[in-house]
Amino acid sequence: MPTFPLDLAELEPGELEDALEARGHKRFHARQLFRWIHRRGVTDFSAMTDLPQSLRDELGRECTVGTPVIVSDQLSSDGTRKVALALSDGQTIEAVFIPDTPSMTFCVSTQVGCAMSCAFCLTGRMGLARHLTAGEIASQVRVLATLTGHLETRFNIVLMGMGEPLHNYEHTMKALRILHAEAGLSVSPRRVTLSTVGIVPALERLAEEALMPNLAISLHATTDAQRTAIVPPNRKYPLKAILDACRRFPLPKRSRITFEYVLLAGVNDSLEDAQRLGTLLDGIRAKVNLIPLNPAPGIPFERPSDRQVDAFAAALAARRITVSVRKSRGRDIRAACGQLIVDGGTGRSAAQQVATLMR
Ligand code: SAH
Repeated sequence: MPTFPLDLAELEPGELEDALEARGHKRFHARQLFRWIHRRGVTDFSAMTDLPQSLRDELGRECTVGTPVIVSDQLSSDGTRKVALALSDGQTIEAVFIPDTPSMTFCVSTQVGCAMSCAFCLTGRMGLARHLTAGEIASQVRVLATLTGHLETRFNIVLMGMGEPLHNYEHTMKALRILHAEAGLSVSPRRVTLSTVGIVPALERLAEEALMPNLAISLHATTDAQRTAIVPPNRKYPLKAILDACRRFPLPKRSRITFEYVLLAGVNDSLEDAQRLGTLLDGIRAKVNLIPLNPAPGIPFERPSDRQVDAFAAALAARRITVSVRKSRGRDIRAACGQLIVDGGTGRSAAQQVATLMR
């Protein structure tokens, strides 16, 4: 992070106190400043009326509040809203607002692009341009909540936008601390769901975190051969390693791990797959979230029929596994799962990125 101007959006409360103290100011102003930025969505220091004028002036000269700029804003017929956000270096990401009753959900990105190359996901086609910083991850929520008028209400956050959150571990966890801070949006970790392909060492680190989000694992297949073909990181972290890490995961009382399972017609949607999935999840406090494929141009798979989806769900339910089918939201504006993509060069290819990660 460049030290000048200092980007206050990147700081968690303790760091903001330290930064003020280092400049000769009272630590308690950090709380006021944090509240202005994160709870009220105000980035103009001159409007922060409870701060001393001299401090406001100094902040104006030496600091910024990095805030992604909305460059497009699309509304789906189902109320889902997708924004494209330009970052300070000109990269673009997408974030999605999903209104539902009783609660609202913000779906945010953790990387520009993604290195995982899942065969059915458009974001995977982009390759990875770079990780997002903690401020850039948290700011998506601030910007969306400001835009949709939800700074004051409770909402859920899903880390299911562009990118693999556990491939950007430090920044993602710091973003969660910023979002959780009491002077800010005060988002409880129980309202946050982190979705991952299952990077085992990172899952083990996550198990030690104080602020633990709900966990969703993108399983998508029931044999290693099948999974490696559609989720390449499986080569390094195969099913057994992921499921063992899930068995060891210190789940809070009454909570369960969600296993996401994208249904691809004729690939992983047979009743044998459903049976194998049930067996794999034996002994894990699990629920399954089926995601019928959201098709997209260039994605070489098809969405199964509703009948097949129902039969798959019924086979799991018959084994007393809690199962839900994810509603596809915002497909008309390409805001649904796996449909987030930003055009433009990203430098290295997805294949190169995966090769680096898998080393
Ligand atoms: N990198 C994270 C977040 C991905 S997005 C992860 O892998 O979990 C959230 C979910 O959407 C994942 O389960 C992902 O595999 C799924 N997904 C990706 N492309 C999809 C598509 N075209 N249709 C349906 N689901 C898709």
